[in-house]
Parts: sequence; structure tokens; C-alpha cells
Amino acid sequence: MGTEGQLAVVAGEVRGCTLCPLARGRTQAVPGEGNPLSDVLFVGEGPGAREDASGRPFVGPAGQLLTELLNAVGWQRSEVFITNVVKCRPPGNRDPESVEISSCSPYLDRQEAALDPAVIVTLGRFSLQRYLPGARIGEVHGQLRRSAGRFVFPMYHPAAALHQASLRETLFRDIRGLPAALLAAREAIETERMAAVAVVVGSAPEAGSGAMVASVTGADSRPADDEQMTLF
Ligand code: URA
Repeated sequence: MGTEGQLAVVAGEVRGCTLCPLARGRTQAVPGEGNPLSDVLFVGEGPGAREDASGRPFVGPAGQLLTELLNAVGWQRSEVFITNVVKCRPPGNRDPESVEISSCSPYLDRQEAALDPAVIVTLGRFSLQRYLPGARIGEVHGQLRRSAGRFVFPMYHPAAALHQASLRETLFRDIRGLPAALLAAREAIETERMAAVAVVVGSAPEAGSGAMVASVTGADSRPADDEQMTLF
């Protein structure tokens, strides 16, 4: 099954999920949305009132700011994939609890595996803690980090800038670094892929055999270098 199909299966399961108490209070679950070919995955905290009503992520005031941030670097919402750590609205927009985060985590694991993004952008502290446990947003925001084989680009949550105006400038400054971070991540991934191919070829009993090279490179669907200036 392709990426789009895998994401649709996850979305269907999320919409019917009853694994944690958040299911009881939701209007609609919010699986996430965006381009299945995107190399950038944005992960927020959890749906708010507007998201709960519409079933779509980041459509309220924080979402409007996220759209502005994307546009500031020439990207459209529809070009990236956007989801959350928890897929159902915590009552009264309270913080998600650990049992809710852990119940929902396999859905995000599967979205991540299906998309295989070059960069994951964390929005807010719950998303940051999933990828960089113990990191402090004040120290890591706007910097490309590596964690468990993934490139992670931490950002403040857009909602934080709605309450603290000075963070708005920080968010815009940080996102302006994202396209370069994406290119750096793609280069590193490609370099590692080529090194892995070289190791496999070098260690093969029949080194240089076309069949061996094809089986390794054929498993990877990343775009070639000349396609890598785009988001996909
Ligand atoms: N805040 C989030 O973290 N996610 C949304 O989808 C909306 C607001």
C-alpha cells in the first residue's frame, strides 16, 4: 500500500478510536491532513475547539498563524503534512495527559513511518518532548536536531505567540531557517543512504553485482538530488 493509502487507514482508525477517555468528549477526531508526498511533517499538541468541530488540524487562530508562517517561506499548508500528538480535543483545551499521549502515540508512529519525512517540525512542548525528551524549547528552537534517526526542527507553538507577542517575531525568524534545515537534512539522509549502499556493495560476496545495488536502492523512494529543492 502507498503512503496515501497508509495514511487513510490510520485516519479511519483514528476517527473510530476509543482507546482513551478523550474519545468520549470529542465531536470529531482530528487525524491530520496534508500532502502525502511532503518531506516535512508538522506535529502540534492536540485539537482545540475549531479543530474538534471541523475534524481538521490547525484551523483556529493558531492555525491562521501557522499558515502565515508557512507562507513567509513560500510554502502552502497543502504542501506539508500537519498533525498532532493527540488526535482528540482535551476538554477545555487542557494539556494532554500521559495516558492520552501514549494511547495516541502509535497513530503518530504510523503516520511518521508512512510519510518518512526528512524533517519533523515540533510545535510546542508536548511534541518537543516526544522527539527530544528533556530538551528546553528556549534552547533548541529554530535549530535542526537529530533524534532516533529523525531530523527534528523545534518551534514554539503558534498559540504561544497569540498570548506573548514577542514570540511572533521568534516564530518568523525560526521558520525562515526551515528551508535551509530541510536541505541540510536531505543532504545528510542522501549521504547516509549512499554510504549504506557502498557498505552493502563492498561487503557483498559478489561485490558490484547489479542485483545487489538494485535491491538496496530500489527500497528507497526518496527523490533524486535534482528534485530536492522542492518540498516533495
Ligand atoms: N493547537 C494544536 O496543537 N493543534 C491544533 O490542531 C490546533 C491548535
